[in-house]
Amino acid sequence: MMVNKKQIKELLNESACTHNEQKKSSCDKPKSGATSGGCAFEGAQIALFPFADAVHLVHAPSTCLGASWETRATPSSYDGENNTYLGYSTNVTAHDVIFGGNQKLEDSIEYIATNKNPKAIFVYETCVTAMIGDDMDNIASRMEIKYGIPIVVVHAPGFVGSKNLGSRLAGEAVLDKLIGTKEPMEIHPFGINLIGEYNVTGDMWQYTPILEKIGIKVVSTLAGDGRIESIHTAHRAKLNVIVCAKSLITLCRKMEERFGIPYISVSFYGKRDTSNAIRSIVSAFKNKELSRKAEEIIAEEEEALESRLLPYREILQGKKAILNTGGNKSWSIASALQDIGIEVVATSIAKATLEDIEIAKQYVPILIKSPANEQAKLIDEHNVDILLAGGRSLYTAIKKKIAFVDVNQEKKVSYGAYGGLENLAKDVCAAVQNPVFRVVGTPAPWEVSHA
Ligand code: SF4
Repeated sequence: MMVNKKQIKELLNESACTHNEQKKSSCDKPKSGATSGGCAFEGAQIALFPFADAVHLVHAPSTCLGASWETRATPSSYDGENNTYLGYSTNVTAHDVIFGGNQKLEDSIEYIATNKNPKAIFVYETCVTAMIGDDMDNIASRMEIKYGIPIVVVHAPGFVGSKNLGSRLAGEAVLDKLIGTKEPMEIHPFGINLIGEYNVTGDMWQYTPILEKIGIKVVSTLAGDGRIESIHTAHRAKLNVIVCAKSLITLCRKMEERFGIPYISVSFYGKRDTSNAIRSIVSAFKNKELSRKAEEIIAEEEEALESRLLPYREILQGKKAILNTGGNKSWSIASALQDIGIEVVATSIAKATLEDIEIAKQYVPILIKSPANEQAKLIDEHNVDILLAGGRSLYTAIKKKIAFVDVNQEKKVSYGAYGGLENLAKDVCAAVQNPVFRVVGTPAPWEVSHA
């Protein structure tokens, strides 16, 4: 069903968000220009794209697909055909705007269902197809019966709001069409769902083997390394674990109401937060043996990590950093940096939710509202050694002759959990010791001699 005002209002006033509980303010309402940081369609596609056994079909002019294409590396261990290597678009044209794009959509679904053998097809509505009023639900229902696979229409056209809202709408679509539609072969006593974990650069694979060693079973993930077959049975997990991003909190609240599954929110960045995340998961089960095993493994992992970090600590101790990234990373990466001996002077909250801002205050003394105006000034004032940000901030680092590390989703290496912290320490050390940042920003000798 087409997304309506009531549904958007419910998602923006999510009662499970603490700032809404306190009636301080509602979640990010669409503001002018909000989609320049990614539209709702992009947010929905990012949330579901890691399902590599499904085909993701964008019902739109091909430019919509281009806007969100290959923005993050979300690896999958799926051994069938990985359907995320190809982009699928109905390529709506001016002709379709006038005469409707229903036939094109039907033909596209038919082609995918007969040639690609997907476990499901996600069909994304976008601005153009929402405005011309194509009857996507009707087509999807008919095709679903014809081909016997779920066809999930995701109603998150870009104009409804931000990326965050789009992720929420994707969660609604999965809850309505997939979760609770099949029963598992067995119900694990310590089964969990990982919600909002996208396995960017394989972050999730840093900690799921540890959870398994303790005796926790990951029933399903939404959607990192996810499988459609598992998400059908997500209602039989005993706990929902929201990993960092809270955009799917509405889904968790509704699963609690519908299936009685409680939820917790954790972060797997840094040593302290990874250990605390494991403890939070285990303590939710109130099982003494599980807790004992968890403590044993945490102690082993922390000890092994500390010895691996020793050579990096010597180089990083006392170094000062500024962090300019989005969402929960404004505090979770700060915590990880502190764990390797770096002083985090300031963090940007320009793209953080109200909840993330509250948490960031507990980790970092200065919160940057406008990086473009404040970042460079703070680097000078606090004698900062390193800037950790997205690629666009590289030029600020070069101008200021300080080291730079890309910590946004374009990064190539995982910084998740204990193993990822070692990767982060290695990358920061390499940047701090790399003379290129000082040299590139310095005038060439011939320029100096002519001055
Ligand atoms: S859905 Fe709308 S805002 Fe998003 S990329 Fe397409 S046209 Fe642009």
